[in-house]
Amino acid sequence: MDRDRPRSTGSPRFFLHFGQLGAYFFAMEKTLPTLIGLSRDELAAEMIAIGEKPFRAKQLWHWIYNRGVTDFSQMTTIAKPMQEKLAERYVLSRPTVVTEQTSTDGTRKWLLGFDDKNQAETVYIPEEDRGTLCISSQVGCTLTCQFCHTGTQLLVRNLGAAEIVGQFMTARDSYGEWPTPDDTKRLISNVVMMGMGEPLFNYDNVAKALKIIMDGEGISLSKRRITLSTAGVVPMISRCGEELGVNLAVSLHATTDEVRSRIMPINNKYPLAELMRALRDYPVNNSRRITFEYVMLKDVNDSDADARNLIKLVKGIPAKFNLIPFNKWPGSDFEQTPMPQIKRFSDILFEAGYSAPIRQTRGADILAACGQLKSESERLRRLKESQAAE
Ligand code: SAH
Repeated sequence: MDRDRPRSTGSPRFFLHFGQLGAYFFAMEKTLPTLIGLSRDELAAEMIAIGEKPFRAKQLWHWIYNRGVTDFSQMTTIAKPMQEKLAERYVLSRPTVVTEQTSTDGTRKWLLGFDDKNQAETVYIPEEDRGTLCISSQVGCTLTCQFCHTGTQLLVRNLGAAEIVGQFMTARDSYGEWPTPDDTKRLISNVVMMGMGEPLFNYDNVAKALKIIMDGEGISLSKRRITLSTAGVVPMISRCGEELGVNLAVSLHATTDEVRSRIMPINNKYPLAELMRALRDYPVNNSRRITFEYVMLKDVNDSDADARNLIKLVKGIPAKFNLIPFNKWPGSDFEQTPMPQIKRFSDILFEAGYSAPIRQTRGADILAACGQLKSESERLRRLKESQAAE
């Protein structure tokens, strides 16, 4: 008999078998709730519920989000009996790292697994002056943007606040970036909610997670270093501005309702005029602008006339552009605009006074570029499964 293999049946004599006991505790541990992802108030309420003083929440917050500990026994300002009490009731676990890949350009991508075995991807993009973590908000996506590979998958579910913050914490674990370093010395210095999913369709969990990430006594990332990208969920935009005050990026990708509705079905619900109205009211000051992302699709949205339309469209909004060369994927109906035309498009915007850099494709060798997330890993998994079945 395999000594460590848990048995599903057996006499009571075998119940105390080491392997079984280990599996039993393992299963028990899995079912304990995590303290990650709770708001400060919820954490204090949790302490009260177990007969502890609410100030314990402040101590825990420091250990969890500033020091990054994963075990209650590492919390040296908390007495042993309380450490044990916490360990009996809670965990501080992160999502499971299913795969971690690092590109030749330094981009790193994690495929993360959650308790119910669903998966999502997180990408780290190092640049000269910053390091940006691209976080997912949903498993899959409901938007079905025609150019996006993630959009060909059905939504499985929203990610919870713990799973969203957990992506950040896993990335920090990977680089050993605990305790929270000085603001000027961070590897992971910026966050973009630009991974899989539509963050404004999962607003409550995203907001809760971002508030934890911004909290000055923990991870302490300034709202100026966080950007939320939306396809344009108009009714949620003002709340996002008022409650979170993070930078906003909008996936615009077209200058007429006709084209935008064709490539982004959400435009049928929230057409351009409504979207622009909501953006005009977004709280930005002189130093901050709304970023308009614009994926360059050959002969669809990339003419000089489109560039000029774009300028008219954003009039009155403090705007900058981010031109994204289309990343092709198997089965996609679009082609990337040739680089000389992307440059021309950028120049027209620049001459009108707008910053319009062309987004450099990063991590293409590990399928970490915009619009490639998860889908490839899912495809590869299916391929492996079908090979295994043969
Ligand atoms: N749902 C949000 C967050 C996703 S962000 C949003 O739409 O903004 C991901 C960015 O990559 C979006 O701007 C998206 O439009 C863009 N994108 C999607 N597929 C792409 C592709 N194949 N090539 C280049 N950019 C793509």
